[in-house]
Formats: sequence, C-alpha cells, structure tokens
Amino acid sequence: MNSDSNTATKTAIVTGGASGLGYAIAEKFVQSNVRTIIIGRNEQKLQEAKEAFGDLCSYIVFDLTNLPEIPKLVSDMADKYGRIDILVNNAGINMKKPFTEVTDEEFQNILLTNVTSVFALSREVVKTMLPHRSGAIVNISSMAAQYGIPKVIAYTASKTAIEGMTRSMAVDLSPQGIRVNCVAPGFIATAMSAKALNNDPERKNKVLSRTPMGELGTPADVADAVYFYATEGARYVTGTVLPVDGGNSIGF
Ligand code: NDP
Repeated sequence: MNSDSNTATKTAIVTGGASGLGYAIAEKFVQSNVRTIIIGRNEQKLQEAKEAFGDLCSYIVFDLTNLPEIPKLVSDMADKYGRIDILVNNAGINMKKPFTEVTDEEFQNILLTNVTSVFALSREVVKTMLPHRSGAIVNISSMAAQYGIPKVIAYTASKTAIEGMTRSMAVDLSPQGIRVNCVAPGFIATAMSAKALNNDPERKNKVLSRTPMGELGTPADVADAVYFYATEGARYVTGTVLPVDGGNSIGF
C-alpha cells in the first residue's frame, strides 16, 4: 500500500469501470482519493485500467450475468476491502435492431445484464452497508428512458426499469441511511455510442440537432455527476434522476 492508499477514506465499486463512462467514473474516484474496485469480463482491459489508475484501484474479473455467484463476489470484496461505501451500477449492453427482429433470448439477455444483475448486486452490497447505516448507490440510465428511441426496445425497457428501481430503492433504503440516485447520460462520446451513431449519419444528425448545446458530452461530464451523487455534497438527495445531456431531453 502506498501513502495514497492509507489516506483513502471511502471504497467504491464501479461496474464496467475499465471502459467508456465507467473508466471516467473510476478515474474521477481515484483522483479524489476513493479506493475503487472495477468489475468487468475482459481481464486485459481491467489490467490496463488498473495500471493507469495506480494503487488505489483494484479489479475483479466477473461476469455480472452470473447471478448465483454475486453473493460470494460481494462477501469476498467485503472481506478483502472492508466497508463498501459507494456502488456505481454502470455496466450495461445495448442492441440496435428493428422491433420485430428482436428474439426473446436477445431481449432477456439485455434485461439480465442491465436490470437483474443490477438488482442482485445492489441487494448484496446493501446488506454490507446496512450495519454502517450509510452508503450511496448510483445507477446509470439513458435518454432511452426519457423519450422513445427507435430500434432499441430491450435497452429502453431496461433503462426505464432502472429509473423505477432507483425510486423504489431510495424509499426502501432511506431509513437505513442509504441514498440511491440515477444519472441519465445523453449522447456521450464512447465506443458504445460510436457503434450506434457512426454508421448512421441520419441518427447522429438528429442527436446533435436536438441537443441544445450542439455537441456530444464527454465521459468526464458523466463522472462529475456520479461523483456528486456518491459524496457528501448530495447528502440530502435521493431517488432522483439527473440528465447529463447538453439539454437533449428537453430539446425540440
Ligand atoms: P461500454 O461498452 O464502453 O462499457 C460497458 C462496460 O460494461 C464495459 O466495461 C463492460 O466490460 C461492462 N460489462 C458489460 N456487460 C458486462 C457483464 N455481463 N459483466 C461485467 N461487466 C460487463 O459502454 P459505455 O461506457 O458507453 O456505457 C456505460 C453505461 O452507460 C451503460 O449502462 C450504458 O447503457 C450507459 N449509457 C451510455 C451512453 C453513451 O452515450 N455512451 C448514453 C447513455 C447511457 P467487459 O466488456 O469487460 O465485460
């Protein structure tokens, strides 16, 4: 442990912390002296992120769709790292396909990653937070939960569920001192959005034309909002959804 590790006051889990928005969130935490555990399936990506972030970052290779193993994942983390103060449910997958071509398996698969695993991981992490009567959970939604976007039926169902779960968790957990909030990123420049927009100029023009600020956001814009929710500045804030979208959700 270096001196930074000794002075770390909080521990955070960031799912999907080795790429895209999760990377920026983990980076923001580490730079703010928060010990950060990143979770993903691709060990090489995790290893590279850990090397970039330094000693305050640890990684765990884990497929979050493996629900039966989630209780052990969390108890192992609690044994190894002690108290968990912050959980950021960032990992997610998307699929763009015409409505009638989406199979039941594809639909279920997106719900499993984006909703069921978020529930299962949150439930287990909350059990470790309860004795301390404090904790902050930040979920990641999307513009797909603010208005109708074509060809993303399962993703839309999943992100709309996340916003409802945020409110439900907030009321269930507030008496125990645990806050739950949600960031709804607009169109942010990451690998996921590049895949959705770069081969579809019409969609990209539509995104930009209805974003009053006229540009895509950066992962750091989202990280700043997540950091606010995760820390003392949001002490009296729970059950809310914050669009970080350059005005996209209210643009004409
Ligand atoms: P990326 O595809 O860059 O990152 C997704 C991350 O989730 C990866 O690190 C991936 O890690 C991890 N992940 C996916 N499935 C699993 C799994 N089964 N188990 C463990 N980890 C998993 O996407 P973004 O950074 O763009 O998206 C992050 C979040 O932000 C998502 O929830 C997305 O819906 C949301 N979002 C993104 C927007 C954007 O414009 N980019 C806009 C609105 C919302 P690995 O591959 O190693 O498993």
